[in-house]
Amino acid sequence: MKIAILTIGNELMSGRTADTNSSFIAREANLQGWSVEAMLSVEDNFASIKSRLNYLLGLADVVICTGGLGPTADDITTEAIAQAFGLPLYTDEKVLNHIKEIFIKFNLTWIENNTKQAMFPQGAEVIANPVGTAAGFALHIFGKWIFVIPGVPRETQKMFPEGVIPILRREFPENEQYIAKQTIKTFGLGEGAVDKTLADVDFAALGVNIGFYPIFPENHLVLVSRQTTKEAAEEKLKLACDEVTARLNKYIFSYGEKTLEEIVADLLKEKQLTIAVAESCTGGLITDRLTDVAGSSEYLERSVVTYSNAAKVSLLNVPAAIIEKHGAVSEETARLMAEGVRKMAGTDLGLSSTGIAGPSGGSEAKPTGTVYLALSDTAQTICRHYAYRWDRKRNKLIFSQAALLLLKNYLEGKDKP
Ligand code: ATP
Ligand code: MG
Repeated sequence: MKIAILTIGNELMSGRTADTNSSFIAREANLQGWSVEAMLSVEDNFASIKSRLNYLLGLADVVICTGGLGPTADDITTEAIAQAFGLPLYTDEKVLNHIKEIFIKFNLTWIENNTKQAMFPQGAEVIANPVGTAAGFALHIFGKWIFVIPGVPRETQKMFPEGVIPILRREFPENEQYIAKQTIKTFGLGEGAVDKTLADVDFAALGVNIGFYPIFPENHLVLVSRQTTKEAAEEKLKLACDEVTARLNKYIFSYGEKTLEEIVADLLKEKQLTIAVAESCTGGLITDRLTDVAGSSEYLERSVVTYSNAAKVSLLNVPAAIIEKHGAVSEETARLMAEGVRKMAGTDLGLSSTGIAGPSGGSEAKPTGTVYLALSDTAQTICRHYAYRWDRKRNKLIFSQAALLLLKNYLEGKDKP
């Protein structure tokens, strides 16, 4: 089964919005074992939409369209598709009621324009939108399938996997295979190095596809095994996972979809430990990430950004003489910051960061990208020192990553002073 993707919107053609929907859909389709034949973007214009759609229908069995389902006059995708096939539009009462309920819930004034979002070409199957007002639809016509979903990336990312894929699997059962999938998250090796480390593994012989997804500073691997039975799919996947683990073990921090901050949150809750954070070079980023997890108040007691030496002295009781002697960016200062914030907050743990994000402020002994991270409990303080080589933004991000990883390893009993 061949797929084509048509993204619709003036903002795509003017370059104001980068088309991320196509890459998302292509990635998901590939994981299903479907090939993508073409991707096109087009402006919100009747003639252009019709002509590009016809062109793609000549190339593929299925065309997935995103965008142009809004209530405003410039959103014309549904009408253009109906016109292209001479289909009348009908109003779906269920969808209309759903949209009206959303308006009531958020106390919005109803404008008659919104009825447009409940209109579909005759014969279309509605695809519900659990995260917005615009429903999508599937249209089976002349032996081809056309899918239309909203352009908002968050909605595409929900509706393609949950609304479109199930219909395609139902309609193209000959493609039906059992799929076993595993995400492996690594940190500490670049994408090229990860690829090279795995170069001797013959994934094709194992019947497993491997995808690389660098999401700075992490590198994610997705292994997909597609077989005729569930058992075979799982067995092949396990063999491939073992090969990856054998080569990348010390860089792997997670098997699965959880983020590093979610893993840390689960460990803190499981061990019923509280934490306080004192940040310098990360400027609050460690805390930002810790608080990205719902329920973070269960373990995070407080956080301070002690950027100046004076703040480290007055808020954390780091002796001025220590900073004077060893520098603000030093193991001694990092340790005292972690201990200071823990004592001040009365928590089980104290975590600290002090470093040089750059581009200025580095020296030969402590170049830009240097960071000291410390983690203190009532019995001990661990300190780790790293030297990274990125720009300011990425240094900050990677510092926060290393800090959360230090915390994770400690909580798992893998890191000791
Ligand atoms: P809504 O009913 O929410 O308006 P819609 O289907 O009309 O949905 P659009 O108005 O076309 O969607 O786009 C909504 C938002 O999604 C815009 O901010 C737009 O920039 C963005 N967007 C649209 N298409 C894409 C795309 N292909 N990739 C990334 N972002 C997109
Ligand atoms: Mg639009």
